Amino acid sequence: MHEMSICEGILLTLEAQAKEQNYKTVKKVWLDIGAFSGVEPRALTFGWEVVTRNSLAENSELIINHIPGQAWCLSCSSSVTIQNRYDNCPKCDSGMLQMTGGEELKIKELEVD
Ligand SMILES: [Zn+2]
Repeated sequence: MHEMSICEGILLTLEAQAKEQNYKTVKKVWLDIGAFSGVEPRALTFGWEVVTRNSLAENSELIINHIPGQAWCLSCSSSVTIQNRYDNCPKCDSGMLQMTGGEELKIKELEVD
């Protein structure tokens, strides 16, 4: 499962940070997940429980912050929200869109002890 390896990656990041910043447990993790990141939030939450067992983030809560797909339309010069990666501009129907958001997959904030 794709989400499992993402969780493992996040955990590795946390373990490295814990050494640098001297914390021992992670209580909450806020994640930015873009609409086009290809991640299934439910699978991620499940993976998180499994991966963090017996780790510094055991029993921590994973809070997912959904980032919508955002693009800049070169035709009508506006910032628009899109549902699918290859959508046309919802305002002028142009296909000249530049993606500006929606591919995020990163740790936004942590609550640690
Ligand atoms: Zn447009």
